[in-house]
Amino acid sequence: MIPVERHRERILAAVSRGEPQRVPVNAAHGCVLAADVVAAVPLPGFDNSAMDGYVVAAADVAALPEPGGSGCGCAGGTQHEGHEGHTPPVRLPVRGDIAAGDTRRLRLEPGEAYRIMTGAPMPAGADVVVPVELTDGGLDVVTLTCADAPGRHVRREGEDVRAGDVVLRAGVFVGARQLALIAACGAVDVLVYPRPKVVCLSTGDELVAPGTVPGFGQVVDSNGLMLAAALREAGFDAVSGGVVRDTEDDVLTALGEHLRTADAIVTTGGVSMGAYDAVKAALSRLGTVQFDKVAMQPGKPQGFGTIGERDVPVFTLPGNPVSALVSAHVFVVPALRAMAGWQRAEPEPVRARVLDGWTSPPERAQFVRVLLDREAGEPVVRSAGGQGSHVLQALADANALAYVPAEVTRVEPGQVLDVTPFGASEAAGWGP
Ligand code: AMP
Ligand code: MG
Repeated sequence: MIPVERHRERILAAVSRGEPQRVPVNAAHGCVLAADVVAAVPLPGFDNSAMDGYVVAAADVAALPEPGGSGCGCAGGTQHEGHEGHTPPVRLPVRGDIAAGDTRRLRLEPGEAYRIMTGAPMPAGADVVVPVELTDGGLDVVTLTCADAPGRHVRREGEDVRAGDVVLRAGVFVGARQLALIAACGAVDVLVYPRPKVVCLSTGDELVAPGTVPGFGQVVDSNGLMLAAALREAGFDAVSGGVVRDTEDDVLTALGEHLRTADAIVTTGGVSMGAYDAVKAALSRLGTVQFDKVAMQPGKPQGFGTIGERDVPVFTLPGNPVSALVSAHVFVVPALRAMAGWQRAEPEPVRARVLDGWTSPPERAQFVRVLLDREAGEPVVRSAGGQGSHVLQALADANALAYVPAEVTRVEPGQVLDVTPFGASEAAGWGP
């Protein structure tokens, strides 16, 4: 048996980051940047109003108090014209409207106003915006009893980003917020490391397609869907390639089909010591594929290598669903992250205190399906139930995978373990 780390290191040494590709902005989602992103335009792109209101020249309203101030006649948005001690209101003719999207280059002449909407360009010669709720809302003539300081409701060109600024560095992951910044800065396309395309193949004569009620002796191919979903949750483009029969020919044909387009292939089943373990038989002769017993529970029989002209990595995982999923998290996800250019090959574990405790096999790392929770703000875990490698109920009930090092034979209550939330659980609020 070889240690988990050795198998993972062998995999990480054999895979490489994809060639950077220039892709349209929206295709960059979920990718890592292969080059700095430089702003083509400033943000905001032009001085614009932050409020719906009226834009006026500062000199015309210099005598008016600020809203809410002692001399202001418009506190609370109501008009109190002519009250003793108040500055007389200013009345200005309204030249017209400036809406968001107005591309005219307008100039405001002293003694007049424009009605302006949020996001609309400021006319030249104007630097005061009075919000509509502080005015009488006039269409031909507007009456102002107070005015904000010049610039108060104006978003200045370039105050967020200047043209030519590096807004995101190479190596940054493009999520929703980064995508917005890249697009807003006027980028047409971006250089990214491509996200690997993965095909998951299920082998087994007993397997029938998902969506089928299995007959006697038949088993629904749950691995294909599960692994493709898990790898998508982990951030990659993964699909199930369906069921392959337990013959060397069928396995070789299926591999040949996907070798042309897939960046990685994951198989399940057919790698133990059975008489019909076709994956092992077919792949032992191909590329750099090597089969090992890895010191882990579940997931002992593992195979990995690169095959074909494009040196496509192939992961041959054991068929038991729990073993397959654990293997995907422990070996496939780190490899895909490395191929996609992620800075950290492994997701950051949560340090969690064990509530129950259990036994662990000697000299084998144990990956336990657990329920990760918080107690008084501290992460805690308990076993999710049946730990057999065929037990789907406890797998579905669990939200995380706890790692018990090989030398530990008994996990005691109070012990602290590294725990990795499963993809969707992480999205639901787990993780550092
Ligand atoms: P194998 O690794 O092919 O010996 O399979 C081990 C166990 O996992 C057997 O009980 C199989 O029926 C089961 N199994 C294999 N592949 C799948 C699959 N795609 N979906 C569900 N169970 C599977
Ligand atoms: Mg099988």
